[in-house]
Amino acid sequence: MNQLDLLWEYQQADMEAERQENTMKRSPTRQRLLKYQEYLREQKAANVHLEEEVHAMSDRIDALKDAIAHTEDQLKALHGRYEANRPTSSEGVQSFIQETQRLIQNISGYEQEIRRIRKDAMDRDNQQRDILKRAASVRSDYDKLKEQYDVEYKENMEKLEGLRQAAAEKGKDVEASYMEKYKSIRQHIMPPLAQLSGDQCGGCRMSLPSAVLRSVRAGTPVECESCGRLIIR
Ligand SMILES: [Zn+2]
Repeated sequence: MNQLDLLWEYQQADMEAERQENTMKRSPTRQRLLKYQEYLREQKAANVHLEEEVHAMSDRIDALKDAIAHTEDQLKALHGRYEANRPTSSEGVQSFIQETQRLIQNISGYEQEIRRIRKDAMDRDNQQRDILKRAASVRSDYDKLKEQYDVEYKENMEKLEGLRQAAAEKGKDVEASYMEKYKSIRQHIMPPLAQLSGDQCGGCRMSLPSAVLRSVRAGTPVECESCGRLIIR
């Protein structure tokens, strides 16, 4: 057998191993596991986001409590000033009342915001609980499926290793320069060898110039200008 025939046989075995690899990648069990993983990642991110929000809310409540305390101090100081030096004019009394009302309104605004934030925080707590519950259930489905997949993977891997070994066996009489060429083309396109099909490249169906046809027919393989495969007789 000449080198190109050997290489062609090697390619058949190589393609079979590749088909097995692709079957493994497309395995429905694997695809479902990947979906579960993606879902769990998303839920984890959502949970972190909620925690950050709750944290920011708690900071905001602290700031509002400080503002309330500060305003209460202002109110006390205002009343102290009033008691110490009661205004004589009705404008003076009016302005004291307005200032008092303004401060009380501020406090009530702060308290309202605190109540709203507490409610939002409770909603987020509930959302978090839901997320954790759902994630735990998906996690348990994932674990069960993973066990099943591990068995499937082991069987498939044994098969793949057998096919790879068979390919290596076929390739062992192929000269290094041919094998290198094959592997370098394989990085771009699979399978790397194509047979001549009439006057076309059997890989991409491109019609070949007559000079190329002559070379290939004479037993000198040429790379297809269109797909890059090595065209053989
Ligand atoms: Zn081609």
